Amino acid sequence: MNPPPKPTTLSEALNAARNEMVLARGTLTQARLDHGFADRIRNIEGLLTCGISTLYEVIREATELEIKAIDEDRGPHLQFGVRGIGLDVCPCCFVCGATQREPDANHFLHNIAAVVSSKADGETLVEWFGGRARLDFRPHQPHHIQLKVGACTAHLPNLQALERITSKHRVIRLKDIAEAIALR
Ligand SMILES: [Zn+2]
Repeated sequence: MNPPPKPTTLSEALNAARNEMVLARGTLTQARLDHGFADRIRNIEGLLTCGISTLYEVIREATELEIKAIDEDRGPHLQFGVRGIGLDVCPCCFVCGATQREPDANHFLHNIAAVVSSKADGETLVEWFGGRARLDFRPHQPHHIQLKVGACTAHLPNLQALERITSKHRVIRLKDIAEAIALR
């Protein structure tokens, strides 16, 4: 098995440490179940639980600082909680405007669905995409607003690039969209 990639940012390093602590706690729990010694081991599990929840806040703060630093270089961001690539109804390919993913396919395009933080942000994002994205706002779910971005099969690599760029901090910038579109 390949070792995991070396963390390149503080938030990635902290996240890696947190994952290791979660694993270590699991190992301790199993050891106690298998071998006893519970009164001694439980304390250490408790210390790890403390560290794991404290790290959660520290990771959040580090991530915020990283996003702020990148904003200075690449422009302001909006929240963009991507959740993988699937197939869905979208207005058109965000790169070329095609309305089918390939000739004779049905109307589903390769698709990213991303959670955005408000209806207003979603509307701004539709503008950032030049109208080639759809805001999925349901009045009965006002806190679960998604932006749907589609691509034809020829431009699936552009959609994958957009996912890769935006998934790191779960934010998006105008420049990210331009770069994903420009990719060939
Ligand atoms: Zn296309």
